Amino acid sequence: MNILIIGSGGREHALAWKIAQSPKVSRVFVAPGNGGTATEPGVENVDLDPTDAAALIAFANDHQIALCIIGPEAPLVAGVSDALVAAGLPCCGPSQRAAQLEGSKDFAKAFMQRHGIPTAAYRTFSDREQALAYLDQVGAPVVVKADGLAAGKGVVVAEDLDEARAAVDAMLGQGRFGSAGHRVVIEEKLLGEEVSFIVLVSGEQVLPLATSQDHKARDEGDRGPNTGGMGAYSPAPIVTPELEQRIMREVIEPTVAGLRAEDLPYVGFLYAGLMIGADGTPRVLEYNCRLGDPETQPILMRLESDLLELCLAATEGRLAEVEAQWCDQAALGVVMAAGGYPGDYAKGHPISGLESALDDNSKAETSSASTGASMVMVLGMGMGMGMGMGTPSTGMNMGSGTGGSEAKVFHAGTKRDDERTLTNGGRVLCVTALGADVGAAAAKAYELAERIQFEGAFYRRDIGYRALKHGTT
Ligand code: ATP
Repeated sequence: MNILIIGSGGREHALAWKIAQSPKVSRVFVAPGNGGTATEPGVENVDLDPTDAAALIAFANDHQIALCIIGPEAPLVAGVSDALVAAGLPCCGPSQRAAQLEGSKDFAKAFMQRHGIPTAAYRTFSDREQALAYLDQVGAPVVVKADGLAAGKGVVVAEDLDEARAAVDAMLGQGRFGSAGHRVVIEEKLLGEEVSFIVLVSGEQVLPLATSQDHKARDEGDRGPNTGGMGAYSPAPIVTPELEQRIMREVIEPTVAGLRAEDLPYVGFLYAGLMIGADGTPRVLEYNCRLGDPETQPILMRLESDLLELCLAATEGRLAEVEAQWCDQAALGVVMAAGGYPGDYAKGHPISGLESALDDNSKAETSSASTGASMVMVLGMGMGMGMGMGTPSTGMNMGSGTGGSEAKVFHAGTKRDDERTLTNGGRVLCVTALGADVGAAAAKAYELAERIQFEGAFYRRDIGYRALKHGTT
C-alpha cells in the first residue's frame, strides 16, 4: 500500500516514521516533507503544496495512493480533505465545514454553547470600540484571541487591561493577523492545568489516544510569548482513568454528537485543548482538527499498534472494532527552536551532531537506572537553576512495537542541502525519548539535545516539570 502524508512539520515526520513501520506499507510519500522525512527509511518527499488539492489528487492517482493523512490545519481549513474524498481517495482528515472548529474560534465557541460543552464565557467582536468597551466591563485578567488561524500566536492571555487593549488594537485596529484577526473572541481566563486530549474519530465512533501535555510558552516556568509548542510528554499523569472518563462524557461525546447533528462530516484526529480546574472540571480551551505538534511525537513513540490499521479503520468506518496498544513507558519530546522564535528568526544554518545523537542512541540498551536523579535535575531546571542535564539515562530498548527506537530526533523546520541538514523554520527539531517515567525520558531527551548544535539554537530546560510535580509518573 502507498500512503501520502500531507505536511512538513515534526508531526508529519513522526506520522511518516510510524506509518512506514506497518507491514502493509510499500511506499510513504510526504508532501512536501522536511529534512528528516527526506532521509527517513521507506519515506520519500514530494515537492507539492499541501493546500493544492488538484496537484495532490493527480499525484495520488499516479502513485496508487491507498490513504491520505492530512497533518496540519491549513489544508483542512482550505477543503483539501473534501477534494480528496470527492476524487475517491480515502482521507484521514475532516471536512472543511467540520474544520471550522479549528479555523474559527467564534464558530468553535458557538458550537460548544449549542451542545453544552464546558468552556470559558466569551463574546465575539469585529468592532474595535465595542471590543474595548467590553474589556472595560469585564476587566483583567482576560484572554483576547484572533478568530482565525494564527499558528498559535493569535492568542494573548492579558494580565492587565493595557495588554488586552493593545491586543484588540493590534487585531481590530492595525490588522496584525490579516483576515484571521478581523474578528476577536474575548474570553474569561481559566485557571488550572492544561492537557491535550486527542482522539481518532470516524463519524460517531471514537478511539482515544494516549494522554499528553504540551508546553505552549517559550520560556521556562511557562513564561514568555506563546509558541506552537516547545515540548510535550505522554502520558499526562493528571489525567486519571476517572478524569479520562469525564472528558469522554462531558467533552468528546457531545462534540462528536454535535458534529453529527449539524451534519459536519468528520474522519480524522480531533484534539481538545483542555484546562483542568482545581476541582477537576475539564473545560475546552480550543479544538484542533488534527494531531497536536509536538504531542504527536511522544504519543507515537508509545504506540505499539499499527498506526496504518487505525487510520484505515477510521476511513472505513470500523473504528469501534479496533484498539490501540500503548507501551508502559513514558515519552518526552524537547523542541529545539531557532533564535528569535516565535518572532523573526534566521534560516539556513547547518545542524551538526544529528549523527552522533542517533548513532549512540541506536546502541542504547535496556536500563532504568538513574531515573530518580534525573527527576530532581529536571525540577531544578524548571526552577531556573540553570543546571546542565548531566546524568544520562541509558534509555529503554522497546522491542518491535515502537519500532525498536528508544529515542528519535524528529525534524520540523529543516531541509536537506546536498549532504547537509539546514534549519528551515522556527521549531527545528523535536528530540524525543522513551523512559521508565517522564523523568527518565526527559534525561535521555536532554542528553541527546545537548549533542545537537546550530546557530541560535535554544530549548526549554524544564519540559515535563508538571508531570514531575505530580510525582505519579
Ligand atoms: P494552537 O497553536 O494550539 O492552535 P491557538 O492559537 O489555537 O493555539 P488557543 O489554544 O486557543 O490558541 O490558546 C493558546 C494558549 O493560550 C492555550 O494553550 C492556553 O495556554 C492559553 N489560553 C487560551 N485560552 C485561554 C483561557 N480562556 N484561559 C487561560 N488560558 C488560555
